[in-house]
Amino acid sequence: MAQPPPDVDTDDCLPDYAPLFSARLLRGKVAFITGGGSGIGFRVAEVFMRHGCSTIIASRNLQRVTEAAKKLETATGQRCLPLSLDVRQPQTIMAAVDEALKEFERIDILVNNAAGNFLCPASALSFNAYKTVIDIDTLGTFNVSKVLYEKCLRDHGGAIVNITATLSYRGQALQVHAGTAKAAIDAMTRHLAVEWGPNNIRVNSLAPGPIAGTEGYRRLGGAHAEAGSYFTTVPLQRAGNKTEIAHSVLFLASPLASYVTGTTLVVDGGSWLTSPNNFPGLLDHWAMEAKKGE
Ligand code: NAP
Repeated sequence: MAQPPPDVDTDDCLPDYAPLFSARLLRGKVAFITGGGSGIGFRVAEVFMRHGCSTIIASRNLQRVTEAAKKLETATGQRCLPLSLDVRQPQTIMAAVDEALKEFERIDILVNNAAGNFLCPASALSFNAYKTVIDIDTLGTFNVSKVLYEKCLRDHGGAIVNITATLSYRGQALQVHAGTAKAAIDAMTRHLAVEWGPNNIRVNSLAPGPIAGTEGYRRLGGAHAEAGSYFTTVPLQRAGNKTEIAHSVLFLASPLASYVTGTTLVVDGGSWLTSPNNFPGLLDHWAMEAKKGE
């Protein structure tokens, strides 16, 4: 069985990297990655840059993306422009894309990775908390896609990869907010693939499983899963790592996937097929964590 590629748990670049695809796969391309200052988005930026791509990494916290961009440029020798935006606010997206287009002639790839999530039973979820997750994940994905479509992708084509999740496939407990938000993005992926295909824009989703070394993994009970028997229920018997997700995003964004559009690639070691969806157990875990936070 293939061994997972190396990774580090922090938001730092890999000490060594040997490309599995050609190191020129994205040479001359420019990618816009929301939430590229941390976790999966950071590693996607790194792996793209290690394949010849320039990147723009954009999120709310300018300091975070600025520090990340320095690390990425040092490790890869490619250009990375850090920008601040809130995916819920179209004006900030337009300003960021205008800024990016001053620096780069065009943008070829968009990775909609920004999101917010936490565990919470529906009964305890406030109206506002539910709305916030839909605003960031679903509306944010639409907002950034539409701005980039209008400002450049419509004219020369490109590829969009939306990072979603498998939560809705079996109605994952304590995740109604993120599950519905991500399911809507998978639907959006198909609609936009149909409408924008004639402009030579491919639109796909990638649904990760539990990915170690990420904020998502920490917040959603990764340590608890490692301590218990969770991973014995996963077909590949382990969590994924950020490099594995980045390699799959690279595939979808690259010419290797030139005839792939409107689909969702699940990258989860088979987790959603077999992992437990234990509502009472998760509720106990949530109540314990909530007590600790009081
Ligand atoms: P993360 O490090 O928390 O990444 C989320 C990023 O989104 C942050 O960099 C954050 O930066 C940015 N962001 C949040 N709200 C934003 C907003 N309103 N506007 C602009 N940027 C915003 O999380 P991650 O675990 O790597 O997750 C990355 C993606 O993978 C997410 O779409 C997540 O749902 C998906 N996913 C993760 C896992 C996992 O195991 N980690 C599993 C399934 C799916 P700022 O705070 O600076 O804005």
